[in-house]
Amino acid sequence: MLIGVPKEIKNHEYRIGLTPAAVREYVANGHQVIVENNGGAAIGFTNDQYEEAGARIVDSAAEIFATADMIVKVKEPQPEECKQLREGQILYTYLHLAPDPKQTELLAEAGVTAIAYETVTDNRGGLPLLAPMSEVAGRMSVQAGAHYLEKAHGGSGTLLGGVPGVEPGKVLVIGGGVVGISAAKMAVGLGAEVTILDRSLPRLRELDDIFGGRVKTIYSTVDAIDKFSQVADLIVGAVLIPGAAAPKLLTREHIKNMKPGSVLVDVAIDQGGCFATSKATTHQDPVYVVDDVVHYCVANMPGGVARTSTIALNNATLPYGIALANKGVKAMLDDANLRNGLNMHRGKITYKAVHDDLGEQL
Ligand code: NAD
Repeated sequence: MLIGVPKEIKNHEYRIGLTPAAVREYVANGHQVIVENNGGAAIGFTNDQYEEAGARIVDSAAEIFATADMIVKVKEPQPEECKQLREGQILYTYLHLAPDPKQTELLAEAGVTAIAYETVTDNRGGLPLLAPMSEVAGRMSVQAGAHYLEKAHGGSGTLLGGVPGVEPGKVLVIGGGVVGISAAKMAVGLGAEVTILDRSLPRLRELDDIFGGRVKTIYSTVDAIDKFSQVADLIVGAVLIPGAAAPKLLTREHIKNMKPGSVLVDVAIDQGGCFATSKATTHQDPVYVVDDVVHYCVANMPGGVARTSTIALNNATLPYGIALANKGVKAMLDDANLRNGLNMHRGKITYKAVHDDLGEQL
C-alpha cells in the first residue's frame, strides 16, 4: 500500500502522522511511504531521517492526497484537505466529528473511509489512542502549575517540592483517570503533598495501590472540594464524564476562597472545563487571573510538546495502522477495537454517536 503523510496545516500544529521510526515499520511490512517536504522538520524529524527510514519526500500535499491509498495525520483534515480526499482512500487521524458538521459533510462528499483515533478501543474498554495525549497533558499540568506558581509568573512564589525545613506545596487533582494519575506522578516526583479526588471507588483503590500511601485518595464530594481547594497551591482539573460536558466542580465561591497566587490548571477544558471561571486559552497566551488565582486552560496542551506527543501518539497508532496497511479495510473485520474507530465509509456515517448528533443534518 502507498502510505501518505502530509504536513499538518492547522494553526501552530507541529506534530506529524508518522515518525521516521514508524515509517521504517511500514516499509519493513512491504509498504511505500511518501512524506511531505519538511513535514516533521519543526520537531527535529528531518527529510534525511525519513529517507533513511525508507520514505520518499514529495514537494506537495496535493501529490500525497492524489496518490496515497492511506493518509496518516494527526489533526482532523481542514476543508482544503477534505476536498482532496478520494473515494476508496483510507484516512487515519483524530477526527472529532460530532461537533463538526462541516467536516463530516466534506468527508461524506469525498467518500473516504475515515478511522478516528479517538474512538478506537482496547479490550478493557479504554481509548488507547487518546490515552497518550492524556498522559502528556497530565504530566504537563504540574509542570505548567509549578511554572505559574513562581512570583514572576503571577503565582504566590511557592516551590512545590519545598526544601528541607519548609513544607512542600499542596496539589489537588480532581479526577483520577489517565490525566489525574499522570499529574499525580509528576507532583509526587517533585515532592509536593498530593490529594486526588475521584467518584469511582475502584479507581481510588487502584490509586492507593499505585501510590502506596504517598498520595491522599479522597471520595469526590462538595465537602471534599470545599476543604481541599482552600488550602491548595495548585489544582488540576482532570475529570471526564464520557460524551458529556465537564461538570463545574469548582464554583466561583471556591475560587474566591483560594489562597492568592494559587494556580488552576483545567485540563478538562476541551470538554468545557470543570472550574466555573475556566475559558479556553492557547499556548501563545496561556493564562489569565480571576480573583487572584492564575488560570491555565490551554485546550491542546500536547501541542506544546509536539515532539514527545508525536512519538507517544505513534507508539499507540502504529499497530492499528500497520494492520490497516496490511489488510486494507478488511482489517476492521478481524478487529472489533479497530472497527470501533470507523466513523465514515463511502459517504455514510458509521459511528453511532456521530450519527445521533449529525445524521439528520446531512
Ligand atoms: P479518564 O476517563 O481517564 O478520567 C476521568 C476521571 O474523572 C475518572 O476516573 C472519573 O471517575 C473521574 N470523575 C468523573 N466525575 C468526577 C467527579 N465529579 N469528581 C472527581 N472525579 C470525577 O479521562 P482522562 O483521559 O484522564 O481525561 C480527563 C480530561 O482531560 C478529559 O476531558 C480529556 O478530554 C481532557 N484532556 C485534555 C487535554 C488538553 O490538552 N487540554 C489533553 C488530553 C486530555
